[in-house]
Amino acid sequence: AEVREELTWELFGSASRELAQAVADDGFEPDLVLSIARGGLFVAGALGYALEVKNLHVMNVEFYTGVDQRLDLPVMLPPVPNAVDLTRKKVLVADDVADTGATLKLVHDFCAEHVAEVRCAVIYEKPRSAVKCDYVWRRTERWIEFPWSSGPPVRRRPSAGS
Ligand code: 5GP
Repeated sequence: AEVREELTWELFGSASRELAQAVADDGFEPDLVLSIARGGLFVAGALGYALEVKNLHVMNVEFYTGVDQRLDLPVMLPPVPNAVDLTRKKVLVADDVADTGATLKLVHDFCAEHVAEVRCAVIYEKPRSAVKCDYVWRRTERWIEFPWSSGPPVRRRPSAGS
């Protein structure tokens, strides 16, 4: 049987604190956290609170459609962050996992054109990642189950409502 890596909500709580600690210990003080939706939203929210950064932005990048089902290229979907918001800022890009690293590379390169400094924080980094993230909680080669995407979609039950 295929072995997977499972991140529980509880483990995510300590993972995000430890990731924030690594950023703080490094002396990096971001002006804003840029999350990559959707998985990165959880990471960015947690890092924002832990590091006392209230300025959070979102970028939408689609790559995967399921387990090991990938599009050929990651694509940037709207809303694309306003370049003015990024200009001369120290940006911390937050995502759940760098797998091929193509998603983070796209975002990193987009930012690099505008910002003063851009660094990346992820919970997991896989060895093949094209981007070496500045802050990584764990490294794995396995497929990871995240708590926010491990359950089935929530749908209306036949008995619900009136
Ligand atoms: P990359 O562009 O680095 O190949 O892929 C990044 C995105 O693919 C992640 O933000 C995540 O949405 C998805 N992804 C890659 N590897 C995994 C994995 O092991 N588990 C899950 N659940 N998603 C993954």
